[in-house]
Amino acid sequence: MQLYILIAAFGLIVGSFLNVCIYRLPQEGMSIVFPPSACPSCGKALRPWHNIPVISYIALGGRCAYCKSRISLRYPTVEALNACLYVLIYMKFGLSAYSIYYMMFLSALIVITFIDIAHQIIPDVISLPGIVLGLIGSIFILPEPHVYGRLLGIVGSLTGLLTGGLIFYVIAVASRGGMGGGDIKFMAMTGATLGWKSVLLTIFIGSFAGSMYGLSLMVFKGKGRKTKIPFGPFLALGAAVSLFYGREIVVFYLK
Ligand SMILES: [Zn+2]
Repeated sequence: MQLYILIAAFGLIVGSFLNVCIYRLPQEGMSIVFPPSACPSCGKALRPWHNIPVISYIALGGRCAYCKSRISLRYPTVEALNACLYVLIYMKFGLSAYSIYYMMFLSALIVITFIDIAHQIIPDVISLPGIVLGLIGSIFILPEPHVYGRLLGIVGSLTGLLTGGLIFYVIAVASRGGMGGGDIKFMAMTGATLGWKSVLLTIFIGSFAGSMYGLSLMVFKGKGRKTKIPFGPFLALGAAVSLFYGREIVVFYLK
């Protein structure tokens, strides 16, 4: 029980850092470590007790302690979501080297999701190191998600990287710019971390969820076919589902 609380608290703290990344990474030349957090409205630096994940937001009624302007609901959402995912990882995979790796991967998915929603970009500073870490991790710690007790291995990682990257490269060329380079690198990163079966599953789930969302926009909001929807959040959802349930889904499908 204490371990659950500890992992949730760790997830909240990392989530708080993810908020800083989501806010600052898309801004050219802004460091993620300096200066300390400040209110986006009045610019006053936050005190440590204004910065306690989720709790400060509730205690302050979702407003800045100084100027009372509204703080985006995104902040507590990111923190709570990250904590929930960390606890789920622990429940599913226990406490191992690759659990910690998967926690990092899910945190990256959260950052990608919220930056893509706000700016329609997937930053290279997340996806490129993600590809390299996936390749290195596959040799030492990352498991093959569909076979118990086997490492993904460099071949599995490279095959995944190429599967994810090439599919999206072809889509990007065919759609003449409808799909960005960010999605290509994001899927290369997912493939390098989870292998080719899981990245296929990711793309399948992401496309399905994305088209359902697009359809519902057309039907309920009267949006046209040309409305641009960021694809990153749906792919991130697909990657998270494959990470947690890839084995079950693939085994079920093969039967
Ligand atoms: Zn303020």
